[in-house]
Amino acid sequence: MVKPKTAEEIELLRINGDLVSRTLAEVGKAVAPGVTTLELDRLAETFIRDHGAVPSFKGFDGFPNALCMSVNDVVVHGFPSDYVLKEGDIVSVDCGTFYKGYNGDSAYTFPVGEVSPETRKLLDVTKASLYKGMEQALDGHRSGDIGHAVQSYAESFGFSVVRELEGHGIGRKMHEDPGIPNYGKQGRGSRLQDGMTICIEPMICAGGRGVYVARNDWEIHTSDHKNAAHYELTVVVRKGKAEQLSTFSYIENDPSINI
Ligand code: MG
Ligand code: MG
Repeated sequence: MVKPKTAEEIELLRINGDLVSRTLAEVGKAVAPGVTTLELDRLAETFIRDHGAVPSFKGFDGFPNALCMSVNDVVVHGFPSDYVLKEGDIVSVDCGTFYKGYNGDSAYTFPVGEVSPETRKLLDVTKASLYKGMEQALDGHRSGDIGHAVQSYAESFGFSVVRELEGHGIGRKMHEDPGIPNYGKQGRGSRLQDGMTICIEPMICAGGRGVYVARNDWEIHTSDHKNAAHYELTVVVRKGKAEQLSTFSYIENDPSINI
């Protein structure tokens, strides 16, 4: 049985949610052709530590860096590297923080310069599918309501949904119950309750939904090597309307960030 969070816990999750949101915006300001993903990772780690928090991904199951940086056909869990971003790439940036015993977790896919119309559509649809899922994060609903909303929206554009990875509860641990799949049936799955804190994170593929794990045992690639996008927000399940603990507004209200 998953317990709803107390108001005090939610406030600490909100501080973390705000910090990951601001960190993603700092990264977004620096995303450009010619920049390496490792440079972006360093910038994020410095920003997180300057705010008195810890990058929670670093050391998580041995993950080496502060950010997951997943370029083009890498769906999630990409390692920052000396790869130089180039015009037309997309980079999915996943960020986690740990502050005062609680976690933050959010992700955003940035275009690098100008991207193809098909890729533009993939980004727009993946982000919109997250908001469709969020509309279902309501007291009394089920995790399958979220998954169904994400899946039916994304698939209506001919895109496909990764099944092997899913969203999750969040609190003292980065990954808590319940799992929040991005596919499913309405009325099925875990019951959602007011005060539960969850991360909704659709991973949507331009081509087929098949994926494989790279030789480093971390990076998830699309099998057909077509692009994939990933957006993630942390929310509180409420009656009437879910409450966001993280936000893309720092990114989207900053005209210097290419989105
Ligand atoms: Mg994440
Ligand atoms: Mg997550």
